[in-house]
Amino acid sequence: MKSVRAIIYDAGHTLLRPRLEPPDIWDFLGGQLGVEFARERPLPDSGYYYYRDMMGEYDSDARARGFWNSYYVKAMQATGIDETDDNLQAAANALHDWFQQPEQWLIFPEVPEMLQRVQALGLRQGVISDWGTDLVPLLHAHDVSDHLEFVVASAAVGAAKPHPDIFHYALARAGLSANEVLYIGDSYISDVLGARTAGIAAVLIDREQRAPEVDCPVVTSLLDVLELIES
Ligand SMILES: [Mg+2]
Repeated sequence: MKSVRAIIYDAGHTLLRPRLEPPDIWDFLGGQLGVEFARERPLPDSGYYYYRDMMGEYDSDARARGFWNSYYVKAMQATGIDETDDNLQAAANALHDWFQQPEQWLIFPEVPEMLQRVQALGLRQGVISDWGTDLVPLLHAHDVSDHLEFVVASAAVGAAKPHPDIFHYALARAGLSANEVLYIGDSYISDVLGARTAGIAAVLIDREQRAPEVDCPVVTSLLDVLELIES
């Protein structure tokens, strides 16, 4: 892959992950409502709801918030709680605000080294993410932005993965051709297939080695991508 001139990253579960675990989330929601939820209760698979109801529609702050609010309202209703919809919505809304604080996110340990090494190779770097417009300050707070030439958040450009528009927007903005870019993400549907719709080669990052066999390179750490580029 010697022709690669730029690496573009997905954000969530590729560069960073939430600090909050389900027990923290149940505690927070319970605190909002003045009730106690069982902390050990698992949360439903958000990917299931996303790909069933919302795929490609994470294209504004309002819709992003709406998705997460309805997800958490459903999760709370499944506990059998007797609360008005307004109260559940308000608790979910407060949780969404909490998630927007940079300190509720953690970058993966190899991210600083990866960004520095890619920069040292003379490659350009950017982010394309299905995220609210708070992504830019979030990445800035984690000292990631210094290495990035551009950050394209779906809610800011009105198009979300896997639609090619968000990829085309980023390419045009960076002045890059699709065949000069390698995209890295943790979702086969949004990231790998999405990048391909725009003609961009993609690598799946599967940190927990849970993916079935797929038709693209798979890595378990960002640093493994360096070997792919240098091969
Ligand atoms: Mg992701």
